[in-house]
Amino acid sequence: MPHSIVSDICEGVSKCVQACPVGCIKPAEFRNNKGKNFFYIDFMTCIDCGVCLQVCPVEGAVLNEERPDVQKQG
Ligand code: SF4
Ligand code: SF4
Repeated sequence: MPHSIVSDICEGVSKCVQACPVGCIKPAEFRNNKGKNFFYIDFMTCIDCGVCLQVCPVEGAVLNEERPDVQKQG
C-alpha cells in the first residue's frame, strides 16, 4: 500500500521530494488550507519504501497508507 501526504498538514518543505528513490512526490497545482504549496504522492508509482515518512520534519504530514480522502491530489 502506498504512502500518502496529508495535504493540509504538509508545509511544502520538500525534503521528501529529494529523498524519494522513484521520484513520485509531485507539487500540487494549488495551495492547501495553510496557504502552502503542498506535495502529493503518485500512488501508482510509490514503492512504499517509507523514506518520505522518515525524512519529513512535520508531524503527521506523511501516512503509511493510501488515503485519497486526506491527500488532495494524486
Ligand atoms: S510531506 Fe513533509 S517533507 Fe514532504 S513536502 Fe510535505 S512537509 Fe515537506
Ligand atoms: S514511500 Fe518511498 S516511494 Fe513512496 S512516496 Fe515515500 S519515498 Fe517515495
